[in-house]
Amino acid sequence: MNRKKVIVVGSGIAGIAAALRLCAKGYHVTVCESNTYLGGKLTEIQLGDFIFDAGPSLFTMPQNVTELFTLFGEQAEDSFQYVKRNTLCHYFFEDGTFLPFYGDPNDLKQSIQTHLGLDPQPVLDYLEHSRFLYDQTHYLFLEHSLHKAATYWDKRLPKSLLSLPKMGLMKSMHQDNVKRLKDPKLVQIFDRFATYNGSNPYQAPAILNMIAHLESGIGSFFPKKGMHSITQSLVDLAKRNGVEFKTQTRVKEILVEKGEVRGVKTESGYLPAELVFCNADIKPAYQYLLPEVKKPKRQLAQEPSSSAMIFYWGMNRTFEQLDLHNIFFSEDYQKEFDGIFHQGVVYKDPTVYVHVSSKVVEGHAPEGMENWFVMVNVPANSGQDWEGLRKSIRERVIAKLSRCLDVSIAACIVEEDYLDPVRIEERTSSHQGALYGSSSNNRMAAFLRHPNFSKVNGLYFVGGSVHPGGGIPLCLWSAKIAVESIS
Ligand SMILES: Cc1cc2nc3c(=O)[nH]c(=O)nc-3n(C[C@H](O)[C@H](O)[C@H](O)COP(=O)(O)OP(=O)(O)OC[C@H]3O[C@@H](n4cnc5c(N)ncnc54)[C@H](O)[C@@H]3O)c2cc1C
Repeated sequence: MNRKKVIVVGSGIAGIAAALRLCAKGYHVTVCESNTYLGGKLTEIQLGDFIFDAGPSLFTMPQNVTELFTLFGEQAEDSFQYVKRNTLCHYFFEDGTFLPFYGDPNDLKQSIQTHLGLDPQPVLDYLEHSRFLYDQTHYLFLEHSLHKAATYWDKRLPKSLLSLPKMGLMKSMHQDNVKRLKDPKLVQIFDRFATYNGSNPYQAPAILNMIAHLESGIGSFFPKKGMHSITQSLVDLAKRNGVEFKTQTRVKEILVEKGEVRGVKTESGYLPAELVFCNADIKPAYQYLLPEVKKPKRQLAQEPSSSAMIFYWGMNRTFEQLDLHNIFFSEDYQKEFDGIFHQGVVYKDPTVYVHVSSKVVEGHAPEGMENWFVMVNVPANSGQDWEGLRKSIRERVIAKLSRCLDVSIAACIVEEDYLDPVRIEERTSSHQGALYGSSSNNRMAAFLRHPNFSKVNGLYFVGGSVHPGGGIPLCLWSAKIAVESIS
């Protein structure tokens, strides 16, 4: 059978998902990846006897992963196992307050009463509102193309339009959180969901308060073998079904003739194809891979999302106070986000996220030890002195964690590595090292992301820098929307 050839440029999670969907439709699929490994940001690193989730650590909407197995008539649980988590996060505040946050409403109520001494009802009402926002908008903003007329014929649209006044369209996430929650600690907890797509809660529209529902309502999950098993199990599925992966194969150009895609040029030669799915970040894609194609200037001018400074620390002991996900909040979130988005600087005492996968994944740390993924949100790279910043952030993070946990943290670190915006860009080609493509800091952001198709016939885009945006579930939707757009 002479099957149509497709090249996927990049093996990020969206590239792998697109390859699977195309393969299931009968295309002959080749994935070209410039790295020696597959998965892009969704990978792992090993330091001595410690294994770390290198990038993403929060896993929501697992059905977007398991659906890919069903395309081939397979049971996902045979290859990929995950668990639902009741404890969502351990929150630590500088005044010594500690709050374990739960998915189960009764456990959550109890925890808010016990640890904050507050009436939990506003939080429960808030989560109900978050569910409402999600229900009214997910099919439009997340699951379909915003750039196709058919999306606007959805029978749910009239109801959503009638709900617009309740969505707080003219407010920021923070303004709506203050109104609904009042208590500054609760406001900070829910403001932080802006970071799930690399945005600023003081600017991002209140409709994004739906993000809390993804985690608290639909659920927070974790793969039994760590985040990297998402990549591994999907790559294995793809290989079993005939997808070809070429690592160390950087695409230098996507070839276009008379408005039609013809294939790609790599360092080792020309690969012809009828369709090309580009999983590279949209900005370098237009700049380097499509030099002759007219650039969509407005879409490419969008503000980048935040980036991150990460320390991977092998720790020589365990910490009872910590769970899988832990946040140590800064005292002034507004200054922290002003620094990230307006001044290009890192706040003096930033919020610190500590992810400890060895709490739940066997083999991620030796017995009696822990693997700490320690992350601080930082601006996208615009030429800051990252080496100097890394040293000073490290010092401040160690001081903060030592203070909050009442332990000398520096003495516990036995293995160490880091990731910064420069390395993120080098390793994944993400423009300025942004984690999630462009930010959602304005009301039009969703409409200004590049669509999953293009003006070039046969050229499609998937991944965190295009519609519907960054984060694993959204990247998986981008692949679905793109493959469904094939004309
Ligand atoms: C530190 C960090 C923490 C994060 N935390 C979370 C989280 O907790 N939960 C969550 O859901 N998301 C999180 N994210 C975001 C999530 O990781 C990304 O949105 C998602 O993984 C991006 O996938 P992608 O398909 O866009 O491709 P990417 O992962 O960006 O990969 C793109 C791939 O394309 C390859 N490539 C690029 N150009 C070329 C070329 N010319 N030729 C060949 N190959 C090319 C790159 O080498 C790379 O492998 C985090 C990201 C980071 C970095």
